Amino acid sequence: MSQKGIRGVRGMNDILPPESLLWNEFEALVHSWAAAYGYRPLRTPIVEQTALFKRAIGEVTDIVEKEMYAFEDALNGEHLTLRPEGTAGCVRAAIEHNLLHQGPQRLYYWGPMFRHERPQKGRYRQFHQIGVEALGFADPEIDAELIVMGARLWDDLGITDVRLEINSLGDPEERAAHREALVAYFTAHQDELDEDSRRRLSRNPLRILDSKNPAMQPLIEEAPRLLDYLGAETRAHFDAVLALIEAAGIPYRINPRLVRGLDYYNRTVFEWVTPKLGAQGTICAGGRYDGLFAQLGGKPAPAAGFALGVERVLALWEACGGEPPQPELDVYLVHQGEGSAPAAFRLAEALRSSGFSVIVHAGGGSFKSQMKRADASGAEVAVILGESELASETATVKPLRRPGAQRQVPWTQLEEVVAHIQLGSEESDGAGTLA
Ligand code: ATP
Ligand code: MG
Repeated sequence: MSQKGIRGVRGMNDILPPESLLWNEFEALVHSWAAAYGYRPLRTPIVEQTALFKRAIGEVTDIVEKEMYAFEDALNGEHLTLRPEGTAGCVRAAIEHNLLHQGPQRLYYWGPMFRHERPQKGRYRQFHQIGVEALGFADPEIDAELIVMGARLWDDLGITDVRLEINSLGDPEERAAHREALVAYFTAHQDELDEDSRRRLSRNPLRILDSKNPAMQPLIEEAPRLLDYLGAETRAHFDAVLALIEAAGIPYRINPRLVRGLDYYNRTVFEWVTPKLGAQGTICAGGRYDGLFAQLGGKPAPAAGFALGVERVLALWEACGGEPPQPELDVYLVHQGEGSAPAAFRLAEALRSSGFSVIVHAGGGSFKSQMKRADASGAEVAVILGESELASETATVKPLRRPGAQRQVPWTQLEEVVAHIQLGSEESDGAGTLA
């Protein structure tokens, strides 16, 4: 009886070769990019207490209300959640391990995040973020540093057509004053509010500005702007950030409607957006969250950070000409006959010790079929081990991508000969001296 296969979970992707090679290349690039700014890696668990996200992100947000993979541990009843973002866990870890005791910290992380959203292009249920967090820094220099970092990454990747949108959310008192004005405004227009917004009117009116409902946009457009409620200090902070990014030559657009989907932000918020990816055009977003440490029960500490969506950045990279690198393979080792396998293994290990990448043929077959595999593998060189080679402790070396005759060489000279072929420096008289 045939059974139906089990499929992966909707909205959660397998990342297959050659696409996975592009991921690896990107990841390597990200590590050196972060190091160039003095940011050090942090790894936190994928699962956290549900209460952490409720407290950090805010109860009345899309993420906490409808996107979290929250569950009760069947074994001990703990309320746990697959992390929907990384900042909460990062700050939790910083508090728990008293990281700021040693002074401010520049940290970054990379990994999967989970949100129960409607899957579509650029929006998945398991997606990946790179998060960059600067903990313990109050000055506008850090806000600007985070933005400059983003700009450099786009530049390193050859990504064009991405622009910076920026806004200031002010400090809590300023937000309170703005909130009153917002509530008054939206109350006056109650009939025009959709259901979500009506519910948010009393609990979290700022969230209405983050509505994705197109029908709501004209109303939102006319709403009181937080920027008009900034006090002198916050305004000065914002101006300092803008001056620094201007000096760095980064163009920006102030977007007074930019509020972000998480409650922990204050002062600077920003997004990098592209018109090249359709509706899911935000590739990176972040801002300052000076209140989060205290909100999570830690000693108050200023902080700022951002997260980029790996899938979206890679899609944009590919749209701008980024391609998976060709996997590099130096040697394909073909072998046949009694006792050839152990010798093949030994030779392959010796070649690997010298830094070559080697595939040892597996699965037997004629020389002809093995050579076909060697060709298809993309290897530079085939090393052939048959019964006669085995008997004379030699191997036949055949260049696969460059002109040049095959020749038989002693095992002791194998690495040297492979290196020669690879460098393309094989001399026609070389064969005579080596053999
Ligand atoms: P959006 O408005 O697109 O829902 P968001 O404001 O919820 O984004 P953040 O929480 O700020 O997103 O996450 C930072 C980045 O992570 C986003 O700018 C985006 O690039 C990426 N991202 C967020 N949610 C998803 C998702 N479901 N699938 C793929 N990428 C995502
Ligand atoms: Mg979202």
